[in-house]
Amino acid sequence: MPSFARIAVNVPSLTGEFDYHLPTELEGKIGAGHLVTVPFGKQTVQGVVLELIRQPSVVETKPVLDLLDPLPVVTAAQITLARWMSDYFLAPLATMINLMLPSGLGQRADAFYSISGRQSAINNQQFTATQSRLLNLLQEKGSLRGRQIDRHFKNVDWRKTAQYLVRTGALTSQSILPPPSVRPKFVRTAQLSVPPEVAEAEMSELGKTADTLSRRQAALRFLMREPADVNVSWVYAESGCNLTDLQELAERELIVLRETEIWRDPLEKISNMESYNKGWGNQELVLTSMQEAALDQILCAFQTPSPDSQIPNYPFLLHGVTGSGKTEIYIRAAQECIRHGKEAIILVPEIALTPQTVRRFLARFPGQVGLVHSRLSEGERYDTWRRARLGQLKVIIGPRSALFAPLPNIGFIAVDECHDGSYYQSEPPFYNAVTAAQEYARICGGVCILGSATPSIVQRYQAEVGESLRLDLPKRIVNPEMPPVQVVDMREELKSGNRGIFSQALVDALDEVLKKGQQAILFLNRRGTATYVFCRECGYTLRCPKCDTPLTYHVAPSSSVPVKPEHVAQEHRDMLLCHRCGYTRQMPKKCPVCGSDQIRQYGLGSEKVEAEVEALFPPARTLRWDRETTRQKDAHEIILSHFTAHRADVLIGTQMLAKGLDLPLVTLVGIVLADVGLNLPDPFAAERTFDVLTQVSGRAGRSSLGGRVVLQTFQPEHYVIQAAAGHDYAAFYARELDYRRQLGYPPFSRLLRMEYRHVQATKAESETQGLAAKLAKWIESEDRRETTLIGPAPCFFSRLNGLYRWQIILRGPNPASLLRGKNFEGAALSASKGWRVEVDPVSLL
Ligand code: ADP
Ligand code: ZN
Ligand code: ZN
Repeated sequence: MPSFARIAVNVPSLTGEFDYHLPTELEGKIGAGHLVTVPFGKQTVQGVVLELIRQPSVVETKPVLDLLDPLPVVTAAQITLARWMSDYFLAPLATMINLMLPSGLGQRADAFYSISGRQSAINNQQFTATQSRLLNLLQEKGSLRGRQIDRHFKNVDWRKTAQYLVRTGALTSQSILPPPSVRPKFVRTAQLSVPPEVAEAEMSELGKTADTLSRRQAALRFLMREPADVNVSWVYAESGCNLTDLQELAERELIVLRETEIWRDPLEKISNMESYNKGWGNQELVLTSMQEAALDQILCAFQTPSPDSQIPNYPFLLHGVTGSGKTEIYIRAAQECIRHGKEAIILVPEIALTPQTVRRFLARFPGQVGLVHSRLSEGERYDTWRRARLGQLKVIIGPRSALFAPLPNIGFIAVDECHDGSYYQSEPPFYNAVTAAQEYARICGGVCILGSATPSIVQRYQAEVGESLRLDLPKRIVNPEMPPVQVVDMREELKSGNRGIFSQALVDALDEVLKKGQQAILFLNRRGTATYVFCRECGYTLRCPKCDTPLTYHVAPSSSVPVKPEHVAQEHRDMLLCHRCGYTRQMPKKCPVCGSDQIRQYGLGSEKVEAEVEALFPPARTLRWDRETTRQKDAHEIILSHFTAHRADVLIGTQMLAKGLDLPLVTLVGIVLADVGLNLPDPFAAERTFDVLTQVSGRAGRSSLGGRVVLQTFQPEHYVIQAAAGHDYAAFYARELDYRRQLGYPPFSRLLRMEYRHVQATKAESETQGLAAKLAKWIESEDRRETTLIGPAPCFFSRLNGLYRWQIILRGPNPASLLRGKNFEGAALSASKGWRVEVDPVSLL
């Protein structure tokens, strides 16, 4: 009978696993996965039991103090995954276990205290004042939860007293996780409830003060124009009214206010469209032969009788253009998974940006789907977690964190848009959910599908070398022709005297679309815009003479990065810097190639684009979708629903537009400047630009209306632009793979990035120098000549939130192994020494 437990102690600065003994009263109650409290130093902290052991690794063990929940909080498979992730990503185990617990779980745990039945324990004792108070309270009120007792003991540590009384037998305690109070999320909508003439007749009677009157009139007028339910946020925005005003209008029976469950509302409009009804809730949909072929292979993988059978347990790479029916494949695979009595996880970049995928799953698996997303309240999140743990949910859909839902028996994991950057957690603990999903499926013996129109170079290469199995869906289902892409050379526009944001071709195209009553998307690539320096005349980009890295605008010491050079005085700030080798030079007055004075950094916001559209096409209704307009809660849903309901003609947006939306009325996509982001000093810049251009182009022409793309660029000959314009992944892959091979970047090497941040530039530098010296010594002593050290150097975004950033990159066959072992040195760097250690980073900026 093992009476010791190995525990991941939840102290973020710790890296190891610790052994404790089980007191007799907890023996038999505690097993792997249980949440407990343990003494650590002078504190009492929480921990998760990893396993029961016979022999502790230390001579003297302390006892486990308490069990916080009778059910395990993580499954055995999750423990295996957490250990693997901790090792792979060089992160403390406790931080990985923490990813799997709903936030606030520990704080929720409570104990239920009662007077014990054993009178002797009470009668024969002398009690201290606190002890007496506690006993009297429980005598008087009956059993109480710890949190209820707190209210009677301000500033008194009664818990220690209670623990003592439990030990002496005067009290009993039982740990509990109280059930959540679940409130489904609703949005409020408003709708006109009388004929417009009736509303018009009431117009002058709506309020006493001129102010309220005009607000209510504006609100009513707006609703008179809108036949359907409108989210009240929009009424507020349009009219300046508030909820009281609307309630007043409802009171007068001019409008009705409704509460609609949030997941239904934004999608109500599009659900009426034919192309959607075909796919939703309809089990009869006949797969195309392409889909059939792909699915056959996937279904075979579900037949695997046991983990040690011959069928290889590798992931599938479902490489299919946008609209080729990948989601349908995930749905069928999930059905098969459920048929085998198991559960499925579907990862999507972000729920708010992929409502259509979510909607289809909800329709196919009514009552069985759990959604995980950033806007859930803590209580809702906790509820989903509990239902998943009990096996009540069959499908979990959500962003990367959904991978950690405690499903008891996982049979299938899909990662949709697997190239998407959001699967990488870019704050500690760093991890890549795609890598983790592949490993997790292996651990669970489940089927894994990575799906994308633009898999990353590394993902595609995996398939090439037999680490995954590629399934192709090369054609769209609804409109098999990919939209034609017209590449517009902006240098020529400039020559012909057009200094505007839009080329003549884009203006003409917009004009045509608006005349036809269709919709357009204008895409603005904001990544790294402000620091990109180029000649508008000839397209020339300034590069470092020593290492060919694009030079970037110098960051003024007084400002914080990302820089906004348009706000920085020109005279003394025009400095260009190489972020690889530190080379600097003045910003030239003239282009070194063509002599033009049109050389400058690029900076263009979506406001400016919107203003331009409004100036050119006054009647066009524009809608902006960027960081500014999405600060408000549920903004994504609102903007999307309004655009799909055709309450706007032109949607102007940034990266979010690239995430898998299906917008049938969109017949034109304008890419305002395609080459932004291409010239960043990062080996992954080309890939990111190609992805986003391809994905955005894929938004056009998804219905029988057809569509096209106008792509504006200063570098029309660039291979990324060429490949994106031709919807030619294969061409891009070939070129990019070649480039990676030449430069020794992934998949031909692996990277490890170590970043240090400090308020003092000198400290950031010296700390980085120190570690670099240590690493160089290890490389030397372990004779790892194939591992190279890049840096130390300041990061591209050299200052963030007032902190200076320096980094070291290790490149080699397995650079992370250099930090493994060595007494947890790698994990300790991130746990307690302030380093940000990234294994397989997705950006070196
Ligand atoms: P992807 O996930 O690759 O972007 P979807 O699965 O969303 O593609 O499919 C694109 C569109 O085609 C959707 O409207 C979907 O309902 C429809 N669709 C998918 N498979 C079929 C099919 N076999 N027959 C008819 N329509 C289909
Ligand atoms: Zn030039
Ligand atoms: Zn350089």
